[in-house]
Amino acid sequence: MATMASTLSGRPPDVKEVHIVWITAGLGCDGDTISVTNAEQPSIEDVILGAIPGLPKVHLHNPVLAKEVGNEFMEYFYRAERGELDPFIFVVEGSIPNETIKREGYWAAQGTDPETGQPITTCEWIDRLAPKAWAVVAAGTCATYGGIHAMEGNPTGCMGLADYLGWDFRSVADIPIVNVPGCPVQPDNFMETALYLLYQAAGLSPMIPLDERLRPTWLFGKTVHEGCDRAGYYEQSDFAHEYGSPKCLVKIGCWGPVVNCNVTKRGWMRGVGGCPNVGGICIACTMPGFPDKFRRDVFGRRGRRLRRANPQAAQHHQQYRQQGTELAASGAASHHRLSATNVLVSTATATL
Ligand code: SF4
Ligand code: SF4
Repeated sequence: MATMASTLSGRPPDVKEVHIVWITAGLGCDGDTISVTNAEQPSIEDVILGAIPGLPKVHLHNPVLAKEVGNEFMEYFYRAERGELDPFIFVVEGSIPNETIKREGYWAAQGTDPETGQPITTCEWIDRLAPKAWAVVAAGTCATYGGIHAMEGNPTGCMGLADYLGWDFRSVADIPIVNVPGCPVQPDNFMETALYLLYQAAGLSPMIPLDERLRPTWLFGKTVHEGCDRAGYYEQSDFAHEYGSPKCLVKIGCWGPVVNCNVTKRGWMRGVGGCPNVGGICIACTMPGFPDKFRRDVFGRRGRRLRRANPQAAQHHQQYRQQGTELAASGAASHHRLSATNVLVSTATATL
């Protein structure tokens, strides 16, 4: 009898099962995992319970969500390493510390090596599993670009996954790292990306389209500003000067004009939310270089003329997020910080 998958797609998926092996042991707060539990387009439950036509059977191994604990949970990681879970999607959550800049100890680890009794560092798990994964996904801004942990002056030398593995990394299926930034990641953005990759694994979708920062283009191709409910006020140069106003928040620090994020269109949960839509400035949490590059020390001043666009300046992060055996100097960070002097914040007619 034809399955639902074969009935709707014309043929069954190329693979019957896909494992998602998810490590949350980067420098992070597990907030991306918690955020994703709110997804509905699709939900985790719909994916793993087989409610979505065309998908292979999906097995999720996430330490926060798994019913297994301790060695029983760790067994999935060993099996993935031995090639017993192929194909698997490797999800990394949290910033990647630099374990080579110190003489002893470790920054982050998951599990204990049964032979040595020593912790298995997060970096070692990435080294073991990324080369064997069908696809590698960085979930949240910490994993994608370094995030809060990679702020100027941090002692860990941490970085994003692509800084660690190389921006030209390719999985065994020849797929680049897939970055889904957000602090935390927007729930449906992550699950929609996972769904795309699962369809791709099933042979039912083409190569996932990514931009130069390895983000899914259909999710991060527009700015916060382009989808904001307050854009009409902006157009009329009618600005809020304090929180609680329904007007455009650019004068009190909104970075929406140069930030790639879709939450003003998509909302946060069930279409509700999206920072400026509901009263909060965009702090640029999805962006490379967040948070250092987007501090508000200059941005918030009144009387400053708005400048011409330089959206590309917002797409690159600080050079101290990198591999190496020495903690890279972060003093240069201030030179890379964006300000109202080099970022577009308005049309030419408006002034701060
Ligand atoms: S500057 Fe911010 S608050 Fe104003 S319209 Fe753009 S995104 Fe919305
Ligand atoms: S609107 Fe800005 S602060 Fe809010 S989620 Fe998007 S990038 Fe982050």
